[in-house]
Amino acid sequence: MPVSYDAIVIGAGQAGPSLASRLTESGRRVAFFERKLFGGTCVNAGCTPTKAMVASAYAAHLARRSNDFGVQIGGEIAVDMKAVKARKDAIVAQSRDGIEAWLRGMKNCTVYHQAARFVSSNHVQAGRETFTAPEIFINVGGRPTVPDMPGADSVPFLTSTTLLDLDTLPQHLIVVGGSYIGLEFAQMFRRFGSEVTVVEQHERLVLHEDEDVAAAIKDILEQEDIQFRLNARCISLMGQGHDISVSVNCTVGEPLVHGTHVLLAVGRTPNTDDLGLKEAGVKTDEKGFIVVDDQLRTNVPGIWAIGDCNGRGAFTHTSWNDYEIVAANLLDNDPRRVSDRIPVHGLFVDPPLGQIGMTETQVRKSGRPALIGTRPMTKVGRAVEKGESLGFMKILVDAETKQILGASILGTGGDEAVHCLLDTMYAKAPYTTVQRAMHIHPTVSELIPTVLGGLKPLM
Ligand SMILES: Cc1cc2nc3c(=O)[nH]c(=O)nc-3n(C[C@H](O)[C@H](O)[C@H](O)COP(=O)(O)OP(=O)(O)OC[C@H]3O[C@@H](n4cnc5c(N)ncnc54)[C@H](O)[C@@H]3O)c2cc1C
Repeated sequence: MPVSYDAIVIGAGQAGPSLASRLTESGRRVAFFERKLFGGTCVNAGCTPTKAMVASAYAAHLARRSNDFGVQIGGEIAVDMKAVKARKDAIVAQSRDGIEAWLRGMKNCTVYHQAARFVSSNHVQAGRETFTAPEIFINVGGRPTVPDMPGADSVPFLTSTTLLDLDTLPQHLIVVGGSYIGLEFAQMFRRFGSEVTVVEQHERLVLHEDEDVAAAIKDILEQEDIQFRLNARCISLMGQGHDISVSVNCTVGEPLVHGTHVLLAVGRTPNTDDLGLKEAGVKTDEKGFIVVDDQLRTNVPGIWAIGDCNGRGAFTHTSWNDYEIVAANLLDNDPRRVSDRIPVHGLFVDPPLGQIGMTETQVRKSGRPALIGTRPMTKVGRAVEKGESLGFMKILVDAETKQILGASILGTGGDEAVHCLLDTMYAKAPYTTVQRAMHIHPTVSELIPTVLGGLKPLM
């Protein structure tokens, strides 16, 4: 006989635990399944460990630049990778343990530390037991993609997950993939003291960003002596132990890059292949992402998919927003939708990028009349005072409606400052609202009204 509940949640990622909390508060009895680490990717192998390590890398970078600030440290700056890892592990453990304790202490929630798999549209199996519920929520996330690349089956490589376990410094780290995850690790390990080469198959980095933003990021990283091999066609791995080569076959430069470690940062694959979705009748797309509607329902009544596994976002904030949408529809009679949200993301190199709404490329493609304002960070007082004046800000506005269309702020505090524009977009207020606002001096945000005061037609 199956064990019966009111709701089943599969996966303790960014959406599942909070949703379980709301479901139990509504009086439902919930069965919660997590097969590995509570907190999922963000807490254990994503945002939390990387940002903890980025902070260590920043400290090393600042220490090396201490003379610029009139501070003398003396001697060479050394990074103790064991200590970096221990700090990161402690931060991660605190977060993971907190989530597990929260779930286990949740009234009406029974936690099963097991993998769950559908055996029908309303039954899942975990171990030898079968469970059933009229409402099932899938929050299974994803994992690093292992590409079908020559040599990947025989040459030892690192992923964004296994690299976090290193407690020694790679002498020369080759990063395959010049996008968000790859670039963050590239700068981090360069600052720890590794030589770093980034190999990217396209002609430029971070394809989703505007060309000027991508070029500025490359420039910033090159100033730290990170090497780039763009246009790398037919990438393959060879070698063994810590003597690894990556064939890049670029139009310029040596055909091989030699290193001691290689990180494959080439995308993420949804954890949907071993979930029994066929047995449940749940549709996926050709990449394995679960197909959902604007309110995150799958094609099977009573089954929802939230977080990275639905392909509607690849961020912690999109997963969290998914939870809010499902809870609002199901419990609050509030018909929130995925299409209500404005796309936003950060790129956590230093200085960071905060990107909201449309890029300049997208605005141009849309053909609408638009205005643009830009400002280099060298003309932002706070950035100059901090000695961190790399990057620039760019804001796009609809020339007719005066609504803000999008912004990219690459610079110190850019990931925070951009939110005043984002909230104005949500309020559907004209850009003049921000232009007339008085902001705190000295901040990066205080120059946003100035940029808006100098908007020019986008030619
Ligand atoms: C290196 C790196 C850095 C990142 N940095 C950022 C960042 O700075 N900002 C940001 O917004 N995003 C970042 N991300 C992305 C972010 O981590 C993910 O978007 C987010 O974790 C997605 O969460 P989720 O809710 O979809 O599921 P996940 O967090 O992936 O969790 C899914 C959970 O489901 C469990 N599970 C899977 N299958 C089963 C099963 N059959 N039964 C039971 N349990 C199962 C898994 O064990 C896992 O715990 C980063 C990702 C990486 C890899």
